Amino acid sequence: MNSNVSLYIHIPFCAAFCDYCDFYSIKTKDLNSDYIDNFLNALIADINSQIEFFAVKNIPTVYIGGGTPSVLGTKISRLFDALKKIKGFSPCEFTVEANPESVSEEFLAVCRDGGVNRLSLGVQTFNEQSRCAINRQGSHNILNERIALVKNYFPGSLCIDLITGLPYQNEKIVLEDIKRILDYEPSHISLYSLSVEANTPLKEKIKTKTVILPTKDTADSLWLSGRDALIKNSFQHYEVSNFALDGKKSLHNIRYWQMQSWLGAGPSASGTIVNEKSKTAKRFTYNPDVDAYIDSPRIKSAVCEEIDTETLLKDSLLMGFRYIEGPNASWFKDCFGISVEECIPKTLNRWKEKDRMLFLNSFLCDAFEELD
Ligand code: SF4
Repeated sequence: MNSNVSLYIHIPFCAAFCDYCDFYSIKTKDLNSDYIDNFLNALIADINSQIEFFAVKNIPTVYIGGGTPSVLGTKISRLFDALKKIKGFSPCEFTVEANPESVSEEFLAVCRDGGVNRLSLGVQTFNEQSRCAINRQGSHNILNERIALVKNYFPGSLCIDLITGLPYQNEKIVLEDIKRILDYEPSHISLYSLSVEANTPLKEKIKTKTVILPTKDTADSLWLSGRDALIKNSFQHYEVSNFALDGKKSLHNIRYWQMQSWLGAGPSASGTIVNEKSKTAKRFTYNPDVDAYIDSPRIKSAVCEEIDTETLLKDSLLMGFRYIEGPNASWFKDCFGISVEECIPKTLNRWKEKDRMLFLNSFLCDAFEELD
């Protein structure tokens, strides 16, 4: 196994729930401070034991997501202190996610002092009607004030998430959102198209017509308008939903897309350890249950899925072609003994002139059909 392994940490707490979200999280208002301390103790124990168990020598990238890591406030410094104690800990990219309404100056200072070099802020939209329709917290004024604050602490490494296809959204609103965001000079923008997940309040509201979404064609054209505006402003469309200025792509996510090993710590987190020698992998996923995690924060209590060579190869194509550069060519050849070009020559030829990132599912159908 390669001893370079990234680290994803899941913070399963949110101040309130957004109607579209299906990530595992619990509301902070139901928690007391001791509970959060117990969670952090469990998380730190888990990270240290995984590093030992998988003999990790180097952690190139760290990503703390959730949930909403910023609801931890300055308590997050305990996590940073623990990470600093890991032998040789010196990631080249260290990202923390935050929401504008819970981000504070103290939190940002602790992140900066803790080695964070990339702050990802979930904005989604400035439009109050759309925000309200999806139960997204944070007023217009709060958004402006907090984005400016984050920019002060993380100039040159501010990352913003936006969503298109929201209720009440039209092209003018999408373009206004992007214009406003660009004023804060972010280096990275994720532009997601709203997806309606099963068992979410949004799904229910659509069913009962309490919320009406734009049609699929309108939603597609909203996303395309956003994409064009970002490209016009020097952002490279480098992954299905991700755009970055030169040199500002997410190194952590590239490692996922190129099937490089990562640890997943925290309830519902998932990690994948690739074994290039056996051309197989193991995927470990913790149950979405904070209480159980606090009681037993050990990788042995995670669900372990064995990934055989055929599945690993398919996963490598599936993840790799999300990324503009495709799967990691030398890794692919070393691992599977065949190049990507030798694997799916007809598909690559058929898609030579087409933007596969826009029609990824069709591209993958062609690729998997050719493989079979
Ligand atoms: S979108 Fe983010 S803030 Fe909203 S419920 Fe999901 S994890 Fe929490």
